[in-house]
Amino acid sequence: MRAVQLTQIGKALEHADVPIPEIGASDVLIRVAAAGICHSDAHYRGGISKIDRLPLTLGHEIAGRVEKVGCDATHLSAGDRVCVHYLLYCGSCEFCVRGLEQFCRSGQMIGKHRDGGYAEFIKVPAANAFPLPDEIPFEVGAIMMCSSATALHALNKAGFKAGESIAIFGFGGLGFSALQLARAFDCANVYVVEINPAKLASAARMGAIAIDATSGDPVEQIKEATAGRGVDVALELIGSAKTMRQSVLCLGCLGRAALVGLTAESMSIHPYTELINKEVEIIGVSDHLATELPALIEFARSGKLRFPSDTLRVVDLDAAQINAVLNALQDSIDHVRTVIVPK
Ligand SMILES: [Zn+2]
Ligand SMILES: [Zn+2]
Repeated sequence: MRAVQLTQIGKALEHADVPIPEIGASDVLIRVAAAGICHSDAHYRGGISKIDRLPLTLGHEIAGRVEKVGCDATHLSAGDRVCVHYLLYCGSCEFCVRGLEQFCRSGQMIGKHRDGGYAEFIKVPAANAFPLPDEIPFEVGAIMMCSSATALHALNKAGFKAGESIAIFGFGGLGFSALQLARAFDCANVYVVEINPAKLASAARMGAIAIDATSGDPVEQIKEATAGRGVDVALELIGSAKTMRQSVLCLGCLGRAALVGLTAESMSIHPYTELINKEVEIIGVSDHLATELPALIEFARSGKLRFPSDTLRVVDLDAAQINAVLNALQDSIDHVRTVIVPK
């Protein structure tokens, strides 16, 4: 089968002709219908995030049709539409038995530790293949399994409830999903903090209150808009110490700041006045859980989570086209996601 692989760190991906994977009793073989090209893939190619082995077929955002099922994979049949949970886990370590597979002792990520979806077929454990309703296009089924799933996990980790207000720092791929999911939770006001005018305008069109961080301290602006009260939940999706601190300071009493963005910087907090007095919580968020995916899929099926066609671009399973997308991802500033659709 055709695949597009990373053969050398820092070099362009290349075409490869590789065997169709042999499946085991608990696996399924999926004919890839869509594979999202993610920012993390650019990081793997560039050597910013370490991968385990070369050559490696990248691609962790995958949807397709079941081609073959192992004899133990009873919940799926050939022809089923599925989307893939990218984290493989043992199911028996102390974390897996508690449903916390992102900490699995022997966890592996598809497209990082083992071959991913930039190929015609992929083999995954059947437990990682989730039924994809007909209402959800394959392209959406692929990309929602990464940033949308993590945005949902952030809301869950923050204990976000109906009627609560929320501030979203950063309106990239995560923020685009987080805003829609917050509204699906029946939230009160959503404040989106950004410096990019186009993103602020798009957040406002989607029903958020745009907070332009270039026109004054966003914390002051949120305090003013909430009559001094602050918000119930803040999501930090940028990965800077400055916005992490702002996400804590814009909270009201009992507020929760969920930190998703990655940074090596340190953040300073005054424990007494900024945390203890208000019983504020600061929460780390990493990836997402298999148990959260059925709810995510239902939000997409019911139209509460949408990726309009002008936010999706399609390329072939072609190394040159994929490399061009990875180059562009470094400085992308829009919500357009590119998906590989093998011909
Ligand atoms: Zn991704
Ligand atoms: Zn485990």
